[in-house]
Amino acid sequence: MAKKELTPMMVQYQKIKDQYPDAFLFYRLGDFYEMFNEDAIKGSQLLELTLTNRSRNADNPVPMCGVPHKAVQNYIDILVDQGYKVAICEQMEDPRLAKGMVKREVIQLVTPGTQVDVGSENAKTNNYLTAVVYDSDNQEFAFSYADLSTGELKVAKLTTQAEFVNELVSLQTKEIVVAKDLPQSIQETVKKLGILISNQSDLPVNSSVSYLSQDVDDELMKRVLKLLLDYIQETQKRSLQHLKRAVVYEPSDFLELDHNSQYNLELIRNIRTGKKAGTLLWLLDQTKTAMGGRKLKQWIERPLVNRNMINKRHDAVGVLLEHYFERNQLQDELIKVYDLERLAGRIAFGSVNGRDLIQLKTSLKQVPKIKYILEQIADKSFEEMLKNLVPLDDIVDEIDSAIVEEPPISVTDGGVIKDGHDEQLDRYRDATNNGQKWLAELEVKERKVTGINNLKVGFNHVFGYYIEVTKVNLDKIPANRYQRKQTLANAERFSTPELKEKEALILEAQEQSKTLEYKLFVKIRDDIKKSIKRIQDLADSVASIDVLQSFAAVSEEYRFVRPTLTTKHVVDVKDGRHPVVEKVLGHQQYVPNDVNLGEDTSILLITGPNMSGKSTYMRQMALCVIMNQMGCFVPAKEAKLPVFDKIFTRIGAADDLISGQSTFMVEMKEANDAIENATPNSLILFDEIGRGTATYDGMALAQAIIEYVHNNIGAKTLFSTHYHELTVLDESLKRLQNVHVGATESNGELVFLHKIQPGPADKSYGIHVAKLAGLPDGLLHRANDILTHLEQQAEEQHQKPSTPKEVVPQEAEQQTSLFPLEQIDDKQAEVVSQLKKLDLMSETPMQ
Ligand code: ADP
Repeated sequence: MAKKELTPMMVQYQKIKDQYPDAFLFYRLGDFYEMFNEDAIKGSQLLELTLTNRSRNADNPVPMCGVPHKAVQNYIDILVDQGYKVAICEQMEDPRLAKGMVKREVIQLVTPGTQVDVGSENAKTNNYLTAVVYDSDNQEFAFSYADLSTGELKVAKLTTQAEFVNELVSLQTKEIVVAKDLPQSIQETVKKLGILISNQSDLPVNSSVSYLSQDVDDELMKRVLKLLLDYIQETQKRSLQHLKRAVVYEPSDFLELDHNSQYNLELIRNIRTGKKAGTLLWLLDQTKTAMGGRKLKQWIERPLVNRNMINKRHDAVGVLLEHYFERNQLQDELIKVYDLERLAGRIAFGSVNGRDLIQLKTSLKQVPKIKYILEQIADKSFEEMLKNLVPLDDIVDEIDSAIVEEPPISVTDGGVIKDGHDEQLDRYRDATNNGQKWLAELEVKERKVTGINNLKVGFNHVFGYYIEVTKVNLDKIPANRYQRKQTLANAERFSTPELKEKEALILEAQEQSKTLEYKLFVKIRDDIKKSIKRIQDLADSVASIDVLQSFAAVSEEYRFVRPTLTTKHVVDVKDGRHPVVEKVLGHQQYVPNDVNLGEDTSILLITGPNMSGKSTYMRQMALCVIMNQMGCFVPAKEAKLPVFDKIFTRIGAADDLISGQSTFMVEMKEANDAIENATPNSLILFDEIGRGTATYDGMALAQAIIEYVHNNIGAKTLFSTHYHELTVLDESLKRLQNVHVGATESNGELVFLHKIQPGPADKSYGIHVAKLAGLPDGLLHRANDILTHLEQQAEEQHQKPSTPKEVVPQEAEQQTSLFPLEQIDDKQAEVVSQLKKLDLMSETPMQ
């Protein structure tokens, strides 16, 4: 389309659109936001809108669709939720007063990472916008993230790509800001995670929010902060006063847990549903505020490693647990606290309305009560929180004196400010009220004069004030005074000179009153803006208190106990439980288990049939450690735990989330990750490693990994396996112990005991299952014979001086030579061949 053919409006549109090529441009046209061209075609599909054409009859009709301005937020949310950006282009002057084209400007670019008006279902999650820069000389990342609704701003140095990916995944960021020079390979990784990449120029211009990075010295970190903040400024184009100063953090300040582990342990998201139900977060969340909910999530994602800090949280939980009455009171007060963090954000953005301010007031009024309750408990562990729990009475008073208790949503239509707050406003209101009284009197008067008893004085937005007379009474009106305004089916509406004059006065008073109300409202809003920092500090304390009371509440409900933190390298958990499985099964059904790893034990080798509870046992251990280091109590009768620095897991059959690699490749990568990075203070959980490949190399690898961990790392390790052959390793590896999960048969049914017992599992278990499955007796006898034979051979092997490494090849020979199929008939041969295809250890009894 040649430029000269464009209408002036489309020229303006195109000029603006060119600045936002990767966003939908919502172009304000009267009461609608319109999309044109490509935006319209795609937008009409995504938003299910009717696609029309502008200048339909011209040679070059322009595809167009629009959304009403009142409903625009919904449409923006739909697009942004799907990963698109929306540029909101407003009319910057009153179209009635404009000369020529109405001036228009983009007032905000809404993007997935900067969306703040998220629905209430997301109140307990943060929406993090992230940014990264990479220094290829030193091979390090600087990484930063912000939540625009709460003002949180963090920055870190990361040394490996794995660390970087972990941060991205655990923050669940939807959008990352990068500079042009970010290496392609890193961009690819980010794309695979489904995260939107936004480019931001990295030019050294002075930015008005650079003060936010003043506590940061490192150049690379300064650079990433600038990138992030520039992007925020360019998209938001509004006050960012609520952003907090950047805080530097280090991943090693927290318990390290890679993203696959987080995923497999179902800390935040249920693997099957992707939802919260069935996760640790779901179990622990009895927070009463949205801020508390978000903080709990942060604590789960970043358990502590600092012994003092963990103990402090334990102290607080313990005290709250004891003070049942006060805890209930606390919950009652917390429930009335609204989302102070996000309110602070809206105050900064200037998007609060009267209702928000009433929410703020209600919330702030709770603070002295919360403070009082904690003071009653009078425990050292609350000292710090109490310090930040400063009631903001000045703000409460200001809102209380000015804003009505139930204000309307709009801030421009009046009805927000209380009577008596402002003299001028009161005068306008008096005028309006007097006007109303006058109108009522007019009705009475006119009825009398005309003798029309059903004569009415009314108002509508188009015609203003009128006198309404029904058709049958029309002959009674004083024709000289009444001027016709509007004709209805059954009535006529009139005005009089007297009414016209009064109408002008009333409408003007109303108009001025609205304008003044808005001015007063903005003043209050700006006053409160100065206190954003105080509101945020307060919010932070309230959130922590909320999480701690939630810990106390769940500890009581599910009988968690305070763990003892040992400085020795021992794990001693008595009657530990998997809290989520227990909740689902019911307390009676769950079989508790000890975890015992003394100073001279580093590996528990766990054998037992499938579905017996091996994996649950390992997860139970991981959750126990995580809960402990979050500062929560743990599901056990008694627990002694060291502070772990990292957890490595290979649990569950899930393939890698990001790279789409096969299970076996992932297994090996995770094993390698553990072997490279684990320290003696780490926890390693390997579930059935080696299962993803052919029997012998899988077993060989499993054995080699166990030996390596045992001899070179010394991390506390739980290793489950269906390779029964590995159980002899306890002879050569001093710090390895065999345990197994038992199963038993009762009335011809296989019963899992789910109880961890010392020693290796019963070898003939597979044959039990086969029997329950109804295989012929003759065949089962034969299988028993073969088993006995195998066992004898194994025995003989052990008589000779042997190392466990030799176990594998021996087994291979035995299996091929010990199946003399010529001795059985065809039918049996068929069954045997079916049987051989079965991997009994990986089948469920039902199968
Ligand atoms: P495995 O890893 O040995 O195949 P799982 O740990 O997956 O077995 O457990 C299988 C099922 O057994 C679980 O879904 C759970 O319902 C049940 N289970 C596991 N451990 C216990 C326990 N300690 N008490 C009661 N039921 C359990």
